[in-house]
Amino acid sequence: MAESVQRETAKATEFELFDPATGERLGSVPVLDKRQVEEAVAAARAAFAAWERTSFAERRKAILRACEVVTAEMDTIARLISAETGKPVGEAISMEIAPVLDLMQFFAKRTAKILKPRRISIGLYGLLGRRSKIVHKPWGVVAIIPAWNYPFSIPLGEAAMALMAGNTVVIKPAEATSLTGLLIGDIFQKAGVPKDVVTIVTGAGETGAALVAARPDKVMFTGSVATGKKIAAEAAKELTSTVLELGGKDPMIVFADANLKIAAKAAVWGAFCNAGQSCSSVERLYVERSAADELTRLIVEETKALKQGVGTDEDVSVGSMSSERQLRVVEDHVEDFRREGATIVTGGRRREGTLFYEPTVITNTTNRMRGMREETFGPTLPIAIFDTEREAAELANDSEFGLTASVWSGDRARARRVAEQIHAGTVTINEVLYTHGIGQTPWGGFKNSGRGRTHGAAGLFELVQAQHIHENLLAVLPDAWWMPYSPNAVKTFRAFATKFATGSILKTASMVPQLLRRIMELRRK
Ligand code: NAD
Repeated sequence: MAESVQRETAKATEFELFDPATGERLGSVPVLDKRQVEEAVAAARAAFAAWERTSFAERRKAILRACEVVTAEMDTIARLISAETGKPVGEAISMEIAPVLDLMQFFAKRTAKILKPRRISIGLYGLLGRRSKIVHKPWGVVAIIPAWNYPFSIPLGEAAMALMAGNTVVIKPAEATSLTGLLIGDIFQKAGVPKDVVTIVTGAGETGAALVAARPDKVMFTGSVATGKKIAAEAAKELTSTVLELGGKDPMIVFADANLKIAAKAAVWGAFCNAGQSCSSVERLYVERSAADELTRLIVEETKALKQGVGTDEDVSVGSMSSERQLRVVEDHVEDFRREGATIVTGGRRREGTLFYEPTVITNTTNRMRGMREETFGPTLPIAIFDTEREAAELANDSEFGLTASVWSGDRARARRVAEQIHAGTVTINEVLYTHGIGQTPWGGFKNSGRGRTHGAAGLFELVQAQHIHENLLAVLPDAWWMPYSPNAVKTFRAFATKFATGSILKTASMVPQLLRRIMELRRK
């Protein structure tokens, strides 16, 4: 955390943080106000001038040093993530630390290559002695506003990519996971990243809103659709560019010819890891009628065998939920399933007085039910039945969301055919959820699941502006389209429209005499 911001925080009010699984107090952090956030953005902008000039090799060293810090402090980091979110330490390592380390080393090593200036084809303009290339310029200050569910990997990964591209970064962590956010600042500091290149500003929604209003050059937001719309509206006032990573209602389609044992295990992990609080959780499962009983039986058997408890115990598979607010959404949805005639096969309860909600499997569901339409973001696995390939795709697409989806079948051609019909940013075949962990591939949603991409080359290009450098190698002659105009000029322009613009070299060659007449005319004038 930048020193200037730390000094200022003494004046700010604070809020306390608690372990959702045990209720233990974890600490407190300051709530930064508008002025402090503006100062942090101004300091980041000042730091940008020097950071932008660093070489890819220098940035690569800094990011790889940050990787070393994370690796050396892995267990402490995992325990903090677990304590702030309630997730098992194993998941903190497998779903946050390992993937973000992989992402960091990849972009540390590959950003220079991906962002390398490149010549682009300009078709027949090349015959006129022209050349074009694209170079990439960092935006400046990138504001990162993440959610609490992956409080380490998402902001750290986005920050590493933004830094490699030459930007400076201000992160406003989700309030419930502020300590993990501050830890990210410490990691970059230990890695020797200069002051104000990475700054953490703690606080709740108002601090986030202040960050968007403080005119960063780009906003990378991860969170709910409602907040995403507010941020897009606020950012639009200054034409600030945004990437929005929003909610999901991700369908899993299982055909009867799939390996049902594997599909059942995948469904259980996909629905219940992080207590279901993943944007790409399996939120609804559609199974072909003839396999429904067997798949449900396998899923229920797997689910009942899961140990739920405090995430710091290493043999715990399902932790607590992260907040009372989120748990209430789960209770509402399960209540609605009950009211609408669905069957709660296992689970369906919270452990009294706690934030532990039992992994819950629900059958006899339909797409009309709330828990099949709205994001539940909790440990529920509602199952519905389909009869045809077409119906499966239609049910999956019947949603305002489109983040990820999965198709399970032993028939690869069929699985690919169905995958291509699904409207979602990522569709996996015989696999669920984990591709956010592949930093090399683009991540982002269709429909209300978001705008723009993080990860992969597409995500890196969000963090730079493309600059086109165009060169005229024949600048001794005037361009045919310059002034003054004349009947001869209009004749030439017609030739451009009917010959040159067809892309045909032959047709273009036939207009050369007219072109020369026009250039001679311009030289005489
Ligand atoms: P949220 O929208 O309540 O909060 C997200 C962040 O925005 C927090 O840091 C919060 O403090 C901040 N914020 C709140 N109001 C703000 C405002 N007016 N201006 C600026 N910042 C503001 O979301 P949440 O409950 O923390 O997260 C859960 C949601 O995130 C789910 O919908 C989940 O699907 C989504 N999510 C999406 C992805 C993805 O990659 N698509 C990944 C993780 C989570």
